Amino acid sequence: MVAAARAIPVPETAGVRLEVDEVSHQFELEKAPLPVLWQVSFSAAPGEFVALLGPSGCGKSTLLRLLAGLDEPTSGRLIVDGAPIAGPDPARILVFQDPTLYPWRTVAGNVALGLEARGLLRSQRDRIGAALDLVGLSGFGAAYPRQLSGGMAQRAALARALVNDPRLLLLDEPLGKLDSLTRITMQAELVRLWQEAGFTALLVTHDVEEALFLAQRVVIFSDRPARIKAEVQVDLSYPRHRGDPRLADLRHDVLSLLGLGQTW
Ligand code: ADP
Ligand code: MG
Repeated sequence: MVAAARAIPVPETAGVRLEVDEVSHQFELEKAPLPVLWQVSFSAAPGEFVALLGPSGCGKSTLLRLLAGLDEPTSGRLIVDGAPIAGPDPARILVFQDPTLYPWRTVAGNVALGLEARGLLRSQRDRIGAALDLVGLSGFGAAYPRQLSGGMAQRAALARALVNDPRLLLLDEPLGKLDSLTRITMQAELVRLWQEAGFTALLVTHDVEEALFLAQRVVIFSDRPARIKAEVQVDLSYPRHRGDPRLADLRHDVLSLLGLGQTW
C-alpha cells in the first residue's frame, strides 16, 4: 500500500461516543408490520471499532440507515455524543457495498462531492488529493469510475467518505463484493485508515473472520427481527495476523454463538 504523502489532519476529538438504546424498528408492508430490529442496545466508545455480525436480512443495513439519520426508529433512542440523532450529518457517513460513484465524474470529482455540498470546495480543495493519497489512489484523480477495478472503486468511495472527516464511519459490507485477495488487502487498509483518522467505526459484515480481524468488539445479531445475541471482545493488538491461534479460538466461539459450532 502506498504511504500517505499528505495526511488529512486528525480532528481534535476524532470519534464519537455512540449509544443505541432499546431501538426497535418495523416496516409497514401492505398493512402487515415487518419487525426488523427488536430492542437493540449497545454502545461504542469514541474511536472504537465495532463489527456488527448477523445473518443476511436480519436488519443490519436498516440499523446503519437509522444511524446515518436516513430513517427514524419506530422506538428507542440513538445518541451521538449525548445528543439524539436528528437527521443526516456529514460527520456520520455511510459507505455501501456498492461504491455508487457517479460515472460522469472523475474520481476527484466524486471525492469532491461532500465538500461541494457544504460549500467548502474552494477553501479545502487540497483535501481531495490528501484523501486520495490516504486510500492509495494518488494519481487516479483524473480517472473515470469505469477505468477502475472493483477494489479501486471502493477505495474511491472510502476517499469520498474520508474527505468529510467523519467522526462516525458506518461501513455496510464495504468489501462484500471484492475478490478474496483484494478483500484481504483492503481489510488491512481499513484498519490503517481507522488508526490514522481516529473515527468511531461500525462495520456491518456477515463474515466472521472479517469481523474478528478488524474489530475490537463484535456484536452478534439474531435472525430477523435482529436482537443482540452476544458481544465478543477481541483483545488483540494491531496489526493482527490471520494465523493467530487466538483468532481461531474466537472464531470458534462466534460460530457457536451463531449456532454453527458443529461446522468447526
Ligand atoms: P441486512 O442488512 O441484515 O441483510 P436489511 O436491514 O437490509 O438486512 O433488511 C432487513 C429486512 O427489512 C429485510 O427483510 C428487508 O426486506 C426489509 N426491508 C429493508 N428495507 C425495507 C423497506 N424500506 N421497506 C420494507 N422492508 C424493508
Ligand atoms: Mg445489508
